[in-house]
Amino acid sequence: MDETIVAVKCISCASENTRFEGIVSQRPGRFQSGDSTLVQCPVCGIRFRHPVADLAALEELYTNTAHTTWPDDDFRRDHYLALNLIRYMPQPLGVLDFGCYSGAFLCKLPSGCRRYGIELSESASAVARQRGVEILGKTIKAIDAKYDNFDCITMFDVIEHLTTPVETLTSLSKLLRPGGTLIISTGDSDSLLWRLHPMSYYYYYNEHLTFYNARWFRWFAQRAGLRIAVQRRFVRDKVTFGGTLRQFALLALYDFTQMLYRCRVSRFVAGVFPFSKTLRWTVAPQLSAFPDHLFVALQKEESNENRHCDD
Ligand SMILES: [Zn+2]
Repeated sequence: MDETIVAVKCISCASENTRFEGIVSQRPGRFQSGDSTLVQCPVCGIRFRHPVADLAALEELYTNTAHTTWPDDDFRRDHYLALNLIRYMPQPLGVLDFGCYSGAFLCKLPSGCRRYGIELSESASAVARQRGVEILGKTIKAIDAKYDNFDCITMFDVIEHLTTPVETLTSLSKLLRPGGTLIISTGDSDSLLWRLHPMSYYYYYNEHLTFYNARWFRWFAQRAGLRIAVQRRFVRDKVTFGGTLRQFALLALYDFTQMLYRCRVSRFVAGVFPFSKTLRWTVAPQLSAFPDHLFVALQKEESNENRHCDD
């Protein structure tokens, strides 16, 4: 029997042939969930934590998150990739940003667009409202039936916080008009450096519960009847050449110390020297200069009526 097979049902496709990949250790941070098992599904490609974190505690954390917790004026490549797509859509648009925080992305939209947001943080949604965003509620359930015709729905760095990605994305796609686009950005668990550090990659923040790759989006698009209009890997932040070198050097040092740690004699020698401190690194240093994020645009089919007109 294959010992890597564990009896945990996939949270995405319900397959029972999931695989145990290892233990992800708890990180310092705002949310403490303890160590968790990383489970991978060979059918749909998703990775997820098991057991599932305390969702009520997470919701409370997000609800009480201040609007100043994350800067909203920093450069974000996913915002600009989305704006490049939106520029070519027939204007004016109705755009919903799911997890809009203080409305930083919606404020970048061309004038004339109608801006809508879903946001748990009370402080951040108050700021978004001041900026002209119509906050529809805290969760997708709060959206009134009259809002079912968005031209575009965006989710930036949100899907990895969900434990019901299929249900959420399916519900969101129903809110799109025929021909509308669902735009998602998230980490790419198939990126090279992630695969080289499968259990220690920096992206395993305690609040990140599910992990995606291009394969999962292909699986989901087919299941949901959506067309993949764009799918590309990207570097999330703007990093200088010096910053890139620094990150690369830190990662090389991390890999070197991990190699020493695995070797008993070297562990003894390293313990004598000052750099032994680095042996306590359990998490690879944060990388923002490498292409380890995915940008995906899923398009809903035009209605049959519209297709007739086009023909
Ligand atoms: Zn699955």
